Amino acid sequence: MTEESKNLPTNFIKEIIDRDLEQGKNDGRIHTRFPPEPNGYLHIGHAKSIVLNFGIAKEYNGLCNLRFDDTNPIKEEEEYINSIIEDVQWLGFDWEDRLFFASDYFEQLYKLAEQLIKSGDAFVCDLTAEQIRSYRGTLTKPGTDSPYRDRSVAENLDLFRRMRGGEFPDGRRVLRAKIDMALPNLNMRDPVLYRILHATHPRTKDSWCIYPMYDWAHGLEDSIERITHSLCTLEFEDHRPLYDWCLVKLGVYHPQQIEFARLNLSYTILSKRKLLELVQEDMVSGWDDPRMPTISGMRRRGYTAAAIRNFCERIGIAKKDNIADMALLEYYVREDLNKTAPRVMAVLNPLKIVIDNYPEGQVENLPAVNNPEDPAAGNREIPFSRELYIEQEDFQEEPHKKFFRLAPGKEVRLKHAYIIKYERVVKDEQGNIKEVHCTYDPDTKSGGVNADRKVKGTLHWVSKMHSLEAEVRLYDRLFATANPNSVAEGTDFKSNLNPDSLKVITAQVEPGLKHVRAGDRFQFLRRGYFCVDIKDSNGGKLVFNRTVSLRDSWARIERMKLR
Ligand code: ATP
Ligand code: MG
Repeated sequence: MTEESKNLPTNFIKEIIDRDLEQGKNDGRIHTRFPPEPNGYLHIGHAKSIVLNFGIAKEYNGLCNLRFDDTNPIKEEEEYINSIIEDVQWLGFDWEDRLFFASDYFEQLYKLAEQLIKSGDAFVCDLTAEQIRSYRGTLTKPGTDSPYRDRSVAENLDLFRRMRGGEFPDGRRVLRAKIDMALPNLNMRDPVLYRILHATHPRTKDSWCIYPMYDWAHGLEDSIERITHSLCTLEFEDHRPLYDWCLVKLGVYHPQQIEFARLNLSYTILSKRKLLELVQEDMVSGWDDPRMPTISGMRRRGYTAAAIRNFCERIGIAKKDNIADMALLEYYVREDLNKTAPRVMAVLNPLKIVIDNYPEGQVENLPAVNNPEDPAAGNREIPFSRELYIEQEDFQEEPHKKFFRLAPGKEVRLKHAYIIKYERVVKDEQGNIKEVHCTYDPDTKSGGVNADRKVKGTLHWVSKMHSLEAEVRLYDRLFATANPNSVAEGTDFKSNLNPDSLKVITAQVEPGLKHVRAGDRFQFLRRGYFCVDIKDSNGGKLVFNRTVSLRDSWARIERMKLR
């Protein structure tokens, strides 16, 4: 074990690996892989698998491959391949020179299929997909042998070669394993290994018109790469006997498949198919919409790679399905940003304040600490002047008892500046508050004789003439219900979308933010963590995405519901 991984929680997979190492299995080698199918963008569930596979390799001084399982040309695209490479790198993992594609093995997989035909363990079947399904039987009823099951090796070889040669249309024939139609496991009832598909593959183009099925391809890919532990999610548990059968029949190197529970996360959906539906139906702005549970969406939202890794490591590896709490992921995001994000002031819903006794035209630059959690972050100066903005919600004309912010008869401190006192309010004809007039105590700024004078409330603010306008996108959870997969009859998961998941406002932010770069992250004092949008923010327009609020407001709502 390496030094830094000693504090990581153990799990049943590591226990298996420890035992294998004790018994000298695989000459002490540990080799894992992350095998995405390039049919969508990666989501946080994939992050869990990435952290597990690359993490184990690192912990045991082993290796981890990145392998694209690109065996279905119909759904796969180059765009997805590129996004996956970017996401795994961004998460902080390195496959070195071991980037592989299942399609690179097509010739080898084909040869092995011929070998299986020659040993009498596979046959070409002419039943239609529908017939195959009905011949398969059910959990309680054994299946029926295909009438083509007893074709001679020579005939099977001839037909299989002609399938490859492009002689037959899609769906006309398949290659099937010859196992046993009476086995209780349906996956073992003569499963299909190859199908005809006249489709252009993103990498092999038109070289192939037959494509291997997952169950045939996956174990062989693992075997070719000499993977020692093939970690996959629970839905493959019933496929393991077939995984093993193929490897045993061919007599090739035999990796061990181990299943773990997939990550589910409350208030969102982790299924590429459903996420694609949201993209295609314009329910979100794209795969990288900051509300999406994709790695690219979370990156754009402002989540850090460290926060995602910490979350994935700490939730552990389970053997049974469960739903992790989104609030926990947000906790790790806050924990990381708290240490690293500079503090700045931004007023989201501006209310004008006029300081009557502050000289007109005067400007002071007041020192402000960039990050109290990080002394190395240093200080900056922020301008103070006669007219300021504070948040509308920080003023109440008729305050309730526990309101310690600005109100008639009250004093508040302006962060990094003076204590001010309410004087009067100015309204428009409709009775809306236009501005609030105050006076300030000149002795209360840092270094002043009354600098330590205490008042109950401290407000953030910006100077009206210096502040910059910024578009702020207030993101909230994509779904309104904790388990969006559970739906009322006649509706689908989209009926659970949160209608308030995005609110766009115009805020006033401190002038130093003029020079931010795409992706920079900040804490807006008292408002939460925000990051500069990587797509829409530019020299002419500042755009911030709300990453996460300062506190878990949803937990409060849940608690209130319980009362
Ligand atoms: P989806 O169901 O979202 O389409 P998938 O399982 O089809 O995902 P793959 O590209 O096949 O996506 O997944 C690559 C790897 O990531 C697989 O080993 C898979 O088991 C793992 N994985 C996918 N989703 C999760 C998840 N929610 N939790 C943990 N691992 C996952
Ligand atoms: Mg899959």
